[in-house]
Amino acid sequence: MTDRSNTPPLRAVRIAAKCPICEKPGTVQFRPFCSKRCANVDLGRWLKEGYRVATDEAPAEDEGEGAEPGSTRQTG
Ligand SMILES: [Zn+2]
Repeated sequence: MTDRSNTPPLRAVRIAAKCPICEKPGTVQFRPFCSKRCANVDLGRWLKEGYRVATDEAPAEDEGEGAEPGSTRQTG
């Protein structure tokens, strides 16, 4: 007989169910977050970071240059 398989992995569950925002026990619906609010907070961070990096790598100035058709640039 083996009683080991009868024991659920409580440790793994507890760690995974911890809300990374407020460190409260997360719910199954919004895991690993505890509520939709916390899930949104994390999502907002993600979007903000991704947006910043994307805009930082592709400056709009580069597109503006030479975008005008038939325009002669006179410098000096
Ligand atoms: Zn939370």
